[in-house]
Amino acid sequence: MKLFVPDAVVPSVVDLDLADLKRRGIAGLLIDIDNTLVPWGNPQMDERLAEWIGRAKAAGFKICLVSNALPERSAAFAQLLDIPAVGRAMKPLSRAFRRGMDRLGLPRKQVAVVGDQLFTDVFGGNRLGLFTILVNPLSTEELGTTKVMRRLERRVLRSLARRGLINADSIKMRLGSEGND
Ligand SMILES: [Mg+2]
Repeated sequence: MKLFVPDAVVPSVVDLDLADLKRRGIAGLLIDIDNTLVPWGNPQMDERLAEWIGRAKAAGFKICLVSNALPERSAAFAQLLDIPAVGRAMKPLSRAFRRGMDRLGLPRKQVAVVGDQLFTDVFGGNRLGLFTILVNPLSTEELGTTKVMRRLERRVLRSLARRGLINADSIKMRLGSEGND
């Protein structure tokens, strides 16, 4: 169960506390694309999120996108933000995150994973001993297979919240009400 517990939960990427991450020794971020930075399947990134990436870079953070989306999609956002990307990463495989860490050139102790999915982003990052941060998905649209996983994900998140292992306030919207699945 420990592998499913994120180190931090925040409503959105823009709510991340960069100063706090620095204090924890984090110098690099591996950030998911779909439903973390951009609504699933959407070609446009919200300006606020693009600005946040700029601020994080200006604050000295190294950033790499790690996405299971097609390489073309990952590359487009990487180019827009002027950061590297690992496309078709096959998260939660460790290889996906290792490739990102290689691009950052940082040891695992200095790397955080940011993503909207418990079973890919958080589980994969935790397996490698990375600092993991869960955010709310930007959209309810996603692959059919992901939708199925979301029901299971919600159950695990509720259980973690009940046991006080995560701050449920930040992700209230995704917990729903008990018994609706
Ligand atoms: Mg995602």
